[in-house]
Amino acid sequence: MNKSQSSKHHTLLIIGAGASGLMAAVTARDLGIDTAIIESNDRLGKKVLTTGNGRCNITNKSTATGTDEALNLSSKYHSNQAEFPLPVLRQFGVRQTVDFFNTLGLPLIAIENGRMYPMSLQAASVLNIFQIALEDRNVPIYFKTKVLDVIVSEGHPRFSIQCQTENEGEVTYTSDYLFLCTGGLTAPKTGTDGSGYTLAQRLGHTLIDPVPGIVQLKLDSPYLAELSGVKFEGWGHILVNGEVIRSEYGEVLFTNYGASGPPILQLSRKAAYQLGQGKRVILSLDMMPDRTEEEVVDFLDTHWGMFGHRTVANSLIGIVNKKLIPVLLKEAGMDEDQNLLCQDMSWKTRKALCGLMKRWNFIVTDTNGFPNAQTTAGGIDTRDLQEGTLESKLVPGLYFAGEVMDVDGDCGGYNLQWAWSSGHTAATALADRIAGKR
Ligand SMILES: Cc1cc2nc3c(=O)[nH]c(=O)nc-3n(C[C@H](O)[C@H](O)[C@H](O)COP(=O)(O)OP(=O)(O)OC[C@H]3O[C@@H](n4cnc5c(N)ncnc54)[C@H](O)[C@@H]3O)c2cc1C
Repeated sequence: MNKSQSSKHHTLLIIGAGASGLMAAVTARDLGIDTAIIESNDRLGKKVLTTGNGRCNITNKSTATGTDEALNLSSKYHSNQAEFPLPVLRQFGVRQTVDFFNTLGLPLIAIENGRMYPMSLQAASVLNIFQIALEDRNVPIYFKTKVLDVIVSEGHPRFSIQCQTENEGEVTYTSDYLFLCTGGLTAPKTGTDGSGYTLAQRLGHTLIDPVPGIVQLKLDSPYLAELSGVKFEGWGHILVNGEVIRSEYGEVLFTNYGASGPPILQLSRKAAYQLGQGKRVILSLDMMPDRTEEEVVDFLDTHWGMFGHRTVANSLIGIVNKKLIPVLLKEAGMDEDQNLLCQDMSWKTRKALCGLMKRWNFIVTDTNGFPNAQTTAGGIDTRDLQEGTLESKLVPGLYFAGEVMDVDGDCGGYNLQWAWSSGHTAATALADRIAGKR
């Protein structure tokens, strides 16, 4: 959209042409509100393009089958106010999202564990469809325009939005209502540098310390180079002070810095928060999830009994990934004696090996940071916002949507669902307010 075609005042200005801003813009325009978007990038939805490995996992329908879809869905979200997402998800959940995209001409399909994608399996289609929808509705987008400050006045216009533009230097836009859809701190290359937090804080809102969520974990182990690339199916548990605080099941992948894979990504927000509080965090891996500890001991003892003439190293071939064997032997204290036969193995070594199968513990040193994370845990404190409308309690007329708030979801389409749900909710709440219904 060409900037010269547009006015500098709009009823509603949306900062951020990411998932939540795009949803809010289309919804607000359909509800008759004069709307424009300000975006620091030169195109819309730069982050959306990278989602779901380029396929865009738009939502997840597996939680949409119970009697209260929103309640099922809300179990996938995290916030310092656990109940805060619920009314938003009730207003606009998975079914409404699927209908919304159908209406725009983007059919969705579910391909794995309820994860829904555009039928084309291309994230770019989602953006193409939004681009067409915004053009059809004549919604201007001011690209290459970074919001530096927001001035609120009691008179008219209420919001003065001070921007730095690439072509025109400093420009001020004004609006009656403002949506902050600036995202969090993840993948800063996509435009999310945390400046939305600064804007909100300057207007009096509290920031709950953001930490990376859905991110790989860095581990302290001398064996990472050897382990890198090995995958196994099992449990990952996060332990603090010896207590399990979250467990996840799935394919764990060792990397040269630590661990990745779906269960690790799911565990990461808990680990990040605990590390942020200076706690000692342990990742405990269970490589034999189908057996109890006693069953592992029985199984391996029987196995070693049958193959007593084999070396311990050879006895483990076919039971664990071969690359793991020399590391497990070292971890069990056998590095001096790699040719030890099973029949000569001490009880102490047997016990150590069995223990490693069920509880292989690693010290978590860090996460892989915001540049590699998929979401930001923490953000603008939801206690500063009205439940169900997402309007600021401190600055009437200012609304929040998406990751900028202290709400984050699990892996599997839940973060985009939050962006769709909150963008839609804020826009409908504003339309109701303008119509005098609120
Ligand atoms: C690699 C990766 C893969 C992901 N995959 C998935 C997935 O498959 N499914 C899923 O549900 N979630 C996924 N996510 C998470 C999901 O993309 C985000 O939760 C979602 O995009 C958040 O939407 P948002 O509108 O809040 O912010 P964003 O989409 O991040 O958009 C914010 C926009 O605001 C703009 N902006 C910020 N500050 C300013 C400013 N001061 N002035 C002007 N513009 C500004 C930014 O440039 C950006 O375009 C993934 C994230 C990453 C990084």
